[in-house]
Amino acid sequence: IIEISNLKKSFGKLDVLKQITFDVNKNDVIAVIGPSGSGKSTMLRSLVHLEEINAGSITIAGEAFVKDGVYAKPQEIKKITSKMGMVFQHFNLFPHLTVKENLELPPKLVKNEPVAAIQQRSTELLRKIGLSGHANAYPANLSGGQKQRVAIARALMMNPEILLFDEPTSALDPELTGEVLEVIKALAQEQMTMIVVTHEMGFAREVANRVIFMDNGEIIETGHPSELFTNPQNERTKAFLSRSL
Ligand code: ATP
Ligand code: MG
Repeated sequence: IIEISNLKKSFGKLDVLKQITFDVNKNDVIAVIGPSGSGKSTMLRSLVHLEEINAGSITIAGEAFVKDGVYAKPQEIKKITSKMGMVFQHFNLFPHLTVKENLELPPKLVKNEPVAAIQQRSTELLRKIGLSGHANAYPANLSGGQKQRVAIARALMMNPEILLFDEPTSALDPELTGEVLEVIKALAQEQMTMIVVTHEMGFAREVANRVIFMDNGEIIETGHPSELFTNPQNERTKAFLSRSL
């Protein structure tokens, strides 16, 4: 459902993505791991056009919005990247809107969809993330774990085909990470296609069907978690895992 080929991205003289190539199949749950500064966020942000790459191609559901480093027209890029939803480390909720309003604003802004249908979806999603009782609360009055669950529900409001997560639990106190990982796990069970950048090795092992290890702007090793975690082939993977597990 996603084809990423030969992505290159530099910030000035710094080559942050060197030659990133991988495919994502429907229903994949891919965990991306790697040291700080290895380019994980930049890679994810490139997929939703929050960063512009210097070379390479990104194809979503058969349509490329950038091909050999050349971008399509803005409305075309928007159409293609709107198949993806993104959840950030720091939630990025609108502080002046209630939980319910946070969920309903994005579809109201971009879709020609009846308001009743949008409201029905937000009610369902609030139930799904266990926050029906907090529909009218403001983000400031929620715990970090609750905020992140709202951010996930907000991304789901757009009915994305693919969800991207950039370290969804690393801003949370340890006792709150579990409730967020549970929501992601439930989505995996419903066959949601996901790419999750994470430091949670236990989660990656349990939920991902593929792990990608990045270091210094490159994919060093990729494999099923049962192989990559127990029998890493590359020295850099071994060194990283021995520090992280
Ligand atoms: P972390 O685990 O700390 O989140 P990461 O793997 O997500 O790290 P990136 O955030 O993608 O790494 O950053 C990769 C490199 O690109 C780093 O050296 C970072 O300093 C640099 N970088 C990222 N964004 C920018 C920017 N907007 N301008 C300049 N350099 C940047
Ligand atoms: Mg990052």
